[in-house]
Amino acid sequence: MDRKRAGSRYIYRFGHAQAEGDGSMGEELGGKGASLAEMTRLGLPVPAGFTISTRACRFYLEQGAMPPSLEEELESALGWLELEQAQRLGGERDPLLLSVRSGASISMPGMMDTILNVGINDTNIDGLAVKQNVTFALDSYRRLLQMFGSVVLQIPKHAFDQASEGVSRDGEEASLRQTILSFQQLIEHRSGKPFPMDPRAQLRQAVVAVFESWNNDRARHYRRIHRTPENGGTAVTVQAMVFGNYGVNSGTGVGFTRNPSTGEKAMFAEFLANAQGEDIVAGIRTPMPIAELERTMPRVYRKLRTVTSRLEAHYRDVQDFEFTVQNGELFLLQTRAAKRSALAKLRSAVEMAEEGLISRTEALLRVTPSDLEEVLSPQLDFGNVELQPIAKGLPASPGSAVGQVALTADRAVELAGKHKQSPIILVRQETNADDIHGMDAAVGFLTAHGGATSHAAVVARGMGKCCITGAGGIVTDEVAGEVRIGEHTLKEGDWLSLDGSTGRVFPGQLTLRPSESFDNPFLTKLLYWARACSLTAVWANADTPQDAERASHASAMGIGLCRTEHMFFAKDRLAHIRSMILASSPAARERALASLLPVQQADFEELFRTMPGLPVTIRLIDPPLHEFLPTEVAAREELAQARLQGTDVENIQRLEELLLRVQQLSESNPMMGLRGCRLGIVHPEIIVMQVRAILRAALRVKAEGILALPEIMVPLVACVEEVRFLRKLIDATAANLFAEEDLFGQEGRRIGYRVGVMIEVPRAAACADEIAREVDFMSFGTNDLTQLTFGFSRDDAHKYLDTYLELGILKHNPFVTIDREGVGSLIRSAVRKAREANPDIKIGICGEHGGDPASIAFFAELGVDYVSCSPARLPMAQLSAAHTSIARAPVKSQQEKVPHGLRLVEGASLSHDLPSQIPSVFRSSSPSAGPTSLA
Ligand SMILES: [Mg+2]
Repeated sequence: MDRKRAGSRYIYRFGHAQAEGDGSMGEELGGKGASLAEMTRLGLPVPAGFTISTRACRFYLEQGAMPPSLEEELESALGWLELEQAQRLGGERDPLLLSVRSGASISMPGMMDTILNVGINDTNIDGLAVKQNVTFALDSYRRLLQMFGSVVLQIPKHAFDQASEGVSRDGEEASLRQTILSFQQLIEHRSGKPFPMDPRAQLRQAVVAVFESWNNDRARHYRRIHRTPENGGTAVTVQAMVFGNYGVNSGTGVGFTRNPSTGEKAMFAEFLANAQGEDIVAGIRTPMPIAELERTMPRVYRKLRTVTSRLEAHYRDVQDFEFTVQNGELFLLQTRAAKRSALAKLRSAVEMAEEGLISRTEALLRVTPSDLEEVLSPQLDFGNVELQPIAKGLPASPGSAVGQVALTADRAVELAGKHKQSPIILVRQETNADDIHGMDAAVGFLTAHGGATSHAAVVARGMGKCCITGAGGIVTDEVAGEVRIGEHTLKEGDWLSLDGSTGRVFPGQLTLRPSESFDNPFLTKLLYWARACSLTAVWANADTPQDAERASHASAMGIGLCRTEHMFFAKDRLAHIRSMILASSPAARERALASLLPVQQADFEELFRTMPGLPVTIRLIDPPLHEFLPTEVAAREELAQARLQGTDVENIQRLEELLLRVQQLSESNPMMGLRGCRLGIVHPEIIVMQVRAILRAALRVKAEGILALPEIMVPLVACVEEVRFLRKLIDATAANLFAEEDLFGQEGRRIGYRVGVMIEVPRAAACADEIAREVDFMSFGTNDLTQLTFGFSRDDAHKYLDTYLELGILKHNPFVTIDREGVGSLIRSAVRKAREANPDIKIGICGEHGGDPASIAFFAELGVDYVSCSPARLPMAQLSAAHTSIARAPVKSQQEKVPHGLRLVEGASLSHDLPSQIPSVFRSSSPSAGPTSLA
């Protein structure tokens, strides 16, 4: 096509395998016009016609008049079409009839669509009847009057319904003639002018109406919601009519080359015999499955299959097509990329890559992390009912939950039953560490307070459960066993439904539509490809062996954060840690620690067994000790109760001691108190116990023939001296342990380990070079780093963050997506400094941001070795990491099978084998010199 002339012309013709445009000209021809041109070029059966460009529309909207040269072009195009079709517009015998359809560069359902049968008038109706039959001719005229009246003249549809009601029913022909008459009267009455008998006037008015529809309310509204530019304009396609209503050998249909809801590779289409397109759209008649076409017109059916497969192969994407069969002859009227469900996107992308239609890289790019989120989370099934939520909060963890209300953790456990057979929604003002057992028993959480990184939210995402936080208007009364939600009062045991993707709360027991499980074979395959092309490895945060099991199942390449204290919170262990905290002498503390050691060791052994050959990062004790004790109020109350009963003196003494210790440990700002590495420096015996437990566990599984790769992480460091002190302690503890005689035989006496730090205090980020020289790895704890850099409390910031976001003071919640300018620049400079000071250092991210697609892209830019996120977020993170890697370093299709985490080095040979069990990030950089190089 001579596109050089594009600037000076407004009309592009297509017909009989030749077209003056092509599929790439969507901007100029609209989606419909471009696809018709492209299909014509492919030699597919498309009725001849021409497209008036979007430029003509823009000219019309700006100047209020048609471009001066358009009239001449239109005449010439009409003359050409009349020759092609051997028919004449307005001709008295067998007249040329036209369809006039709108088509912007993106599909806009809010715009006017189609006027069919343009060209009929009182004079040629008999000629048309001669060609086919009288009923067909009259019915076509009736349709033209109705469409022209409602679309061009904007006479409401119901006016036509009323007009046709008064028509007598004496014979089809007579009643059609009467309908036509009454429609003509209606048009004249409503518009003040008779229906135009001149076919050229019909066409001109139809074109103007399409142009003007660009600015109708629905179209404007649609553009506003979809953020589509206001100035694009629409094209108009004028085409020779083909008729699906010629009789039983005719019909019309719509379809998809693959199933749009499941993605299955099977043509999915519906067909209506003896009908025109608008009959399907209007839902006047129920279409039949395409199998019916196969039965009645096998030849047409086969051709449709061939033609649509060809379309899909040509466009390399699932197509949504419209077709008409006229007297046994197939015509294509439109094709476009099909809108499809997340599940269908996933399946069709994977299958198309396997068919060789697209590359694996393209398949990866066709699915977004939020598609996966949708695929993986169960959803509320509203059926056809519009339900009003009774409360709305922050969608803190996606998915949906339906269950019975419980107001305390204990009640949740009780109501859930021994085997968690009853689904429970835990409703709290807010949750804390004491609620863990109840959260474990529940299927979803609803809190009145808290933001997207509150305790409830973080735990929910970790557990892969649905959670809504900060839902205002919720008041719980645990004593009465009631909760007020707005005007509703619910009792414990009442049903509640949560939509974690939107934050909406519904009363009652809605049905849950289960998601495709993590075992969806297409998901498994796509994520395998994702990991294979990622330059950034994805690890998981896992606190318990169960978490690690899930992480391993989802192919995490390591554990980036195991919070040991979460193991302490389990009921049977809390007693040990309490006696350690309450110990009155160093000896008593040693004894308490000695009883904790085997418990911790057993947990670590399980972790190592679950992640053989993969790094497991264990963070030393982090939270302030008082978190393991009851609150002062609770301690006081318990003491008062005991005194009231008054007999057990020993018990009273114990409770007095407990209260005293609680008071001693209380801090006015515990977040900045005696915690993290400070705790280890003040109480080194805790660190010694933990390091011994970690290394003994590693040695034990080594004796079983399993390779354990322990990484010991020191939390909340601020200065290099803290790091030096604790590293010395850790290494000395290891050396002492390895020197012990009674370990697992000569062979099993040593094991390699790494020592690293968590960077979560801005000072540590500023001194990253000094610190990097002392450690083997560093991992950015971006939650605390964000909290401390902004000076925003993670647990309370939601109180002002909403206002900040509304006012645009912040563009997004920095606890969800990393703040690139502030926190991000700290990390950027810390990474640079650390790598300069210690080129072998391994750098990771272990905050909540490690599972956020936008943040992952940023971390990948900085060149971190891995990001670590909760197991439930692994699929999304793996896909995000792949997308980022593809965008940063386009990998050729045969290079897609790069082992996990391997940095692409120029000239390096790329393995085509299965990804190795041991990730290269572990193999490629050796630990720094010192006792850690033991192996
Ligand atoms: Mg922290």
